[in-house]
Amino acid sequence: MAVTRFAPSPTGYLHIGGLRTALYSYLWARKTNGEFRLRIEDTDTQRNNEEAMKAIIEAFDWVGLNYDGEVEYQSKRLDIYKKYIQQLLDEGKAYYCYMSKEELDELREKQMAAKETPKYDGTWRPEDGKELPPIPSGIEPVVRIKAPKDGKITFIDGIKSIMNFDCSEVDDFIIARSNGMPTYNFVVAIDDALMGISDVIRGDDHLTNTPKQIVIYEALGFDIPKFYHVPMINNPQGKKLSKRDGAMDVMDYKREGFLAEALLNFLVRLGWSNKDQEIFSMDEMLELFNPENINKSASSYNQEKLLWLNAHYIKNVSNDRLAKELEFFDCNLEGHDKKEIILDLCKERAQTLVELKEAITNILNVPTDYDNKGVKKFIKEDTVKILKFYLNTLEEVKDTLRLSCDYEIVTKPFIEEFELKFPQLFQPIRIALTGGTQAPSVYDIMAILGFEEVKERINSAIDKNFNKDS
Ligand code: GLU
Repeated sequence: MAVTRFAPSPTGYLHIGGLRTALYSYLWARKTNGEFRLRIEDTDTQRNNEEAMKAIIEAFDWVGLNYDGEVEYQSKRLDIYKKYIQQLLDEGKAYYCYMSKEELDELREKQMAAKETPKYDGTWRPEDGKELPPIPSGIEPVVRIKAPKDGKITFIDGIKSIMNFDCSEVDDFIIARSNGMPTYNFVVAIDDALMGISDVIRGDDHLTNTPKQIVIYEALGFDIPKFYHVPMINNPQGKKLSKRDGAMDVMDYKREGFLAEALLNFLVRLGWSNKDQEIFSMDEMLELFNPENINKSASSYNQEKLLWLNAHYIKNVSNDRLAKELEFFDCNLEGHDKKEIILDLCKERAQTLVELKEAITNILNVPTDYDNKGVKKFIKEDTVKILKFYLNTLEEVKDTLRLSCDYEIVTKPFIEEFELKFPQLFQPIRIALTGGTQAPSVYDIMAILGFEEVKERINSAIDKNFNKDS
């Protein structure tokens, strides 16, 4: 039973990399009948904002990752952190440090000049028999943890296997600033311990924080969780993913017409696999996911794959669901008598809901304009004559015209009789009915619109001479 958490810092929108870590944490908790918790790391009051917090929760709602219990806000837990800082001071495991900023800068410069890694030198660290400098006036001290001086900090990462950090790499880092505010690594460790987090799944940009957090766990006698540090998502060129490579804000994916299940499927595969399977329903993810199988190397963002997955889900979710999703794009098909056939037809070609909406509105909206290039190419001298004959032919059997195949049965012999090539008839009809040449099957459009509407649109295009004269 794994207790996992997602712990975003609300300094902006929810990033897709963040959503991937959240998904992995969610899957692992649900699969093991554990708990998935949400914690907002909002102690950096200058960078956090309310909007960003709302955006994170909104994104979670959209993709349907439900969390257990209340959301924890670090900003509301300051008293808890202060209590533990005091405990560490009382137990002699932490100490006040009065080194001024100038002294610290000087120390750092000296170390850099000697090609050493800059770190605190332990001036204020109490040791048996050591005399500490006199406390200077006018300096509010910071609190530093007494980190182990020798040996190694070792842990087994579920993805990267054994990790060793030499204690010389971890200095007596600050756990409370001079204004009393606890620091990042301190609060993360306290929260993970108090929230009973058993498995910490997070980006490997946090790997170097882990030994520091282990120092805190050990000082307070807390159980150390299992860590999984997930490699980053790179762009196709192997560089850090940036906004140019794709939408970054999870809600942008919604606005661009992606279905939540397509995005989750895309993200689960971005760094984890099960043989060569590409499509995963939520149930399959829950059945098959194990963080131990997360890839050891960085993954590569692939927009084509995302579009392919989205097209797959658009084709496979119910029409009711599509109609509901389309409302977000101001496309309302509820109660439309041709809803099913319109969706059946248009979803075959759409890669996004935005494209789906365009295809639908192209058919449902009476065209006011006709694509210039298409008109030049396909509206010839004999076009009007052909269209008029064609309408007459349809009119004669109009009571039999309901489905696409009904139109096909009449149209094929017509084309043969007049020795036409398909585009000679179909492209002018497409243009007359939808304004452009890109629409789906003419038979389907006619079936959706019905004979009377087809007649009206074709006649109207003829009357306007396809706007050729304007
Ligand atoms: N708040 C951190 C972030 O947004 C995550 C901390 C963690 O997962 O331990 O990157």
